[in-house]
Amino acid sequence: MCVLWHASTHRVSVPVLNEEASMDIIMVDSSEPSPPALPEPHRDLIPYEVQDNGRDIEDLCICCGSTQVYTQHPLFEGGMCAQCKDKYLDSLFLYDDDGHQSYCSICGSGDILLLCESPDCTRCYCFECVDALVGPGTSEKVQAMSRWACFLCLPFPHSGLLRRRNKWRARLKAFYDRESAKPQEMFKIVPVWRRRPLRALCLFGDIGPELASLGFLWEDAGPGQLKHVEDVTDIVRKDVKAWGSFDLVYGSTPPLGQAHNHSPCWYLFQFHRLLQYVQPAPGSTLPFFWMFADHLLLRPDNQDIATRFLETDPVTVQGVCDRTIRNAVRVWSNVPAVGSRHTELEPEQEAALLAQGGQWARGPLQGATRLLRGCFLPLREYFQYSSSCP
Ligand code: ZN
Ligand code: ZN
Ligand code: ZN
Repeated sequence: MCVLWHASTHRVSVPVLNEEASMDIIMVDSSEPSPPALPEPHRDLIPYEVQDNGRDIEDLCICCGSTQVYTQHPLFEGGMCAQCKDKYLDSLFLYDDDGHQSYCSICGSGDILLLCESPDCTRCYCFECVDALVGPGTSEKVQAMSRWACFLCLPFPHSGLLRRRNKWRARLKAFYDRESAKPQEMFKIVPVWRRRPLRALCLFGDIGPELASLGFLWEDAGPGQLKHVEDVTDIVRKDVKAWGSFDLVYGSTPPLGQAHNHSPCWYLFQFHRLLQYVQPAPGSTLPFFWMFADHLLLRPDNQDIATRFLETDPVTVQGVCDRTIRNAVRVWSNVPAVGSRHTELEPEQEAALLAQGGQWARGPLQGATRLLRGCFLPLREYFQYSSSCP
């Protein structure tokens, strides 16, 4: 039995813009009952409307069955209402620790999900969508299968009413660029057969172990996949060019409790300087990602400088254990979904973390870079990774 069920206990509901319901909060222990599901009265009527009533599926929201269509679904033939569009945008790049997306690729929600087992596919589908659009009982049949490839991975383009759109990757990008309120442009998802190994440049902090644990770095990929530099003082553009091209640039202020020789702003300015050398030429459509992580060392005025330099707002990634925030990192990044949620630390929470001086951060699970691991999961849509890693 290869069809896996997502553990729904640590799910949070996307539809309501709830500050707490954020992928940024790593809930280590959450046994709260999930909030009541939104009423979805019409979805089961989609087959009736299309097959018996002759209604065009583009005139129905395939996520909820509503006839108030706002736009086209980017991946499958059919419409989408405004409410489902918002929900879908929010869930587009949310991932669970198992490496699969957190929500259904059709409706952007769902509690129990069927996971695609094609290597290098991260998508999942809720029972309700599959049963309504492919046919009653489909979810049960899929569960009984020894191996299941999803509707985007199957060689044939349609199953029941569910028809994959031509050029869905381009459509997904266009959908995101058009509907998202964020200024950052999304890179087009790369088909599995065209994905290359990720080449990462790490400044100061080292995220090598996190990237390796996600399957992005492997031994036989040869040297040059990860370049880690601690001291960049004398590094000039020529040096960076000589290292080759990179797909990801990561930089950080030193972890709490670790001695450092420079002011926190120095790390930001150096990161920004080297980022300019590595960045692809304007207009390049190649996926290129960057992330700057601050271990709560930048003061508010410095944070404003970072936001201005990096042209994006920060999010706070929190390590929560036993309902206590054990660690937190402030992150500026263009990795999809990292910027989609804004979680703020309360001033007293931040003060408490600083007072602890990073004592939590030294634990094996709560280390600062460990918190960022999940932020790199969306890169699986763009680069090769070893699917044996969870
Ligand atoms: Zn809808
Ligand atoms: Zn669904
Ligand atoms: Zn798939």
